[in-house]
Amino acid sequence: MAMLEVKDLEVYYGMIQAIKGISFEVNQGEVIALIGANGAGKTTTLQTITGMLQAKKGHILFEGQDITKVPGHKIVTMGMAHVPEGRRVFANLSVYENLKLGAYTRKDKNEIAQSLEMVYESFPRLKERRNQSAGTLSGGEQQMLAMGRALMSKPRIILMDEPSMGLSPIFVDEIFKIIQQVSAAGTTVLLVEQNAKKALAIADRAYVLETGKIALSGDAKELMNNESIKKAYLGE
Ligand code: ATP
Repeated sequence: MAMLEVKDLEVYYGMIQAIKGISFEVNQGEVIALIGANGAGKTTTLQTITGMLQAKKGHILFEGQDITKVPGHKIVTMGMAHVPEGRRVFANLSVYENLKLGAYTRKDKNEIAQSLEMVYESFPRLKERRNQSAGTLSGGEQQMLAMGRALMSKPRIILMDEPSMGLSPIFVDEIFKIIQQVSAAGTTVLLVEQNAKKALAIADRAYVLETGKIALSGDAKELMNNESIKKAYLGE
């Protein structure tokens, strides 16, 4: 059984169909990349999985349970975390307070403290800046905080929307390294990226979205060598 299964999904904005019947799956332990140009429907797909948007048709199964109509706040408690596009940290709260909020679904104080230590270990920069207000962090640091906050819910799967957006190359490399660490630590990853090159380099498999449909899918390393992918997404 796949950990996350999306079946014949259709999503509309009013009359406009953004997602036109897509199906894909994410197995436990995998890093799956969802790549595609601007407006292909990547963000819409993630937001529908996490319950921020409603599907018009189709089904979303998480660990075998139908979550198509489950509201977002409940999905988090089920073990799925979302790092939204544009990070959305609480600017006026400190780094530490943002991280603590990420654990709002959990009760065990010792376990929460353990998770905090793990996040600080993965992101030493966040530890250094734990008392700084999040709004004054650099873009890359805010991305780290958004990821750290998501990890504080101790998710079994983490969905990340364009983590490399707007970051300098050094930060992009760092963020992708951290995604690999998160994966190595046992969390399943669904990654939406415009940076197809970086995404394919760390993914096991990938799906290519074009105007609301899956145009191509397969092993990430194979897709990297696919001529049409090279031309359209890898700038070669
Ligand atoms: P990007 O990489 O630019 O974020 P994307 O692949 O994530 O693109 P989406 O943001 O999912 O694409 O958008 C898919 C389609 O839905 C686009 O045609 C977009 O214009 C449309 N769309 C997105 N949000 C809305 C909205 N709130 N109202 C109407 N149309 C929308």
